[in-house]
Amino acid sequence: MSEKTLPPLVAGNWKMYKGAREAGEFIRLLSQKVGNVKDREVVVFPPFTSIPTVAQVLQEVASTISYGAQDVFWEAEGAFTGEVSPAFLAELGCRYVIVGHSERRHLLGETDEMCRLKVAAALRYGIRPILCCGETLQEREAGETTDVIKKQLTAGLSGVAADASFDIAYEPVWAIGTGKNATGDQIGEVHSFIRRWLGERYEKATGGIRIIYGGSVKPANIDSLMAQPEVDGVLVGGASLDLESFVRIVNYGRVK
Ligand code: PEP
Repeated sequence: MSEKTLPPLVAGNWKMYKGAREAGEFIRLLSQKVGNVKDREVVVFPPFTSIPTVAQVLQEVASTISYGAQDVFWEAEGAFTGEVSPAFLAELGCRYVIVGHSERRHLLGETDEMCRLKVAAALRYGIRPILCCGETLQEREAGETTDVIKKQLTAGLSGVAADASFDIAYEPVWAIGTGKNATGDQIGEVHSFIRRWLGERYEKATGGIRIIYGGSVKPANIDSLMAQPEVDGVLVGGASLDLESFVRIVNYGRVK
């Protein structure tokens, strides 16, 4: 896998918060506060229905912030009531899509096979997938963490070309929305396992693959997380919904 040539990624997953009006107001303020950052990549993931408004505001203010979708379906069109096509997301200018978030896996029954289809569909449409992986507390306590991660990556990335462009989010399920952070050692261990695993398979990945951490990332822990050499970025849920918190997270390493 090629060395880190991409800037660190700071991603905000808005989950099912911020309808179009609120999302538009928020992204305008965020782009004012964040400015045109170049040494880090800032991406927001609004709900589907808020994406066009966010896209319009970011274009109006010529911001370097980009946007993506929280999910995608694997077919381009057809009788799939309620699903959203990768072609439609590409048409809206989405550069990223989150695949296999633990809320989708655990609340909505998303399987590794569905993740594989979604990763492949995103890549077909030039959208960079962020494949999420992570163990439950029970799996960690049973010593199964790396087996779970290996299974999720093997299945989700099956068939992906060695030069494909994607990112991986390590999100321990027990740390998402709980206020419980994985420790630096726990994160370092899993990230280096993922890096080794990817290194053997995606050595030609153009521009590199980032391994980002997600799970109760907050202003209070962002500096120490980003100081870890194994961490190429963060996927932030709850704290990305509050302007002041997310601005502080985006500005990691700059302010005290
Ligand atoms: C997430 O939504 O991916 C997430 C990590 O949530 P939180 O930051 O709220 O734990």
